Amino acid sequence: MTEQEIKELFARSQALLEGHFLLSSGLHSPRYLQCALVLADPPKAESLGRALAALCPERPDLVLSPAMGGLIIGHEVGRALGVKAYFTEREEGAMTLRRGFALEPGQKVAVIEDVITTGLSSGEVIELVRRLGARPIAALSIFNRSSQAPSIGVPVRSLLKLEIPTYETGSCPLCREGVALVKPGSRKRQQPC
Ligand code: ZN
Repeated sequence: MTEQEIKELFARSQALLEGHFLLSSGLHSPRYLQCALVLADPPKAESLGRALAALCPERPDLVLSPAMGGLIIGHEVGRALGVKAYFTEREEGAMTLRRGFALEPGQKVAVIEDVITTGLSSGEVIELVRRLGARPIAALSIFNRSSQAPSIGVPVRSLLKLEIPTYETGSCPLCREGVALVKPGSRKRQQPC
């Protein structure tokens, strides 16, 4: 898949919008990204999984994703590579393996996310993999929102680099231009502030 094809795929599913958006954080942004809207379509998720699997520097023994965001795409990368797809969950804030998932010493593990922003979640999963005696080999994501490559000790690869600027209400250039503010997922347009 080319970068253009991926952008079009997301745009068609209303998962990547351009405009003036009120994010759930309360910040404003000229872009809105919601990977779940594309990944909800199994054939599309499968295609993205295949494309992402191709970025893996070597074949892992399994893939591991932080839930929830990484879960579906991790599963599809696992399908493409023919390996198991485990996921991590937070327990009292700490990244953990539950549900009987276990790593064996020396196992090669690729960490999969939908969006990498600061690299924090992937970094925590990588730390967990090391702590359990396995070997992280790469961190892969559909989108990379970080302005600089996160330094998490493994190659970081993404299908698409995408900047998503965010603004406080008072300093939003789109508000200043009077562009109507839209809350993604709702049809109602809000008054520009
Ligand atoms: Zn604004």
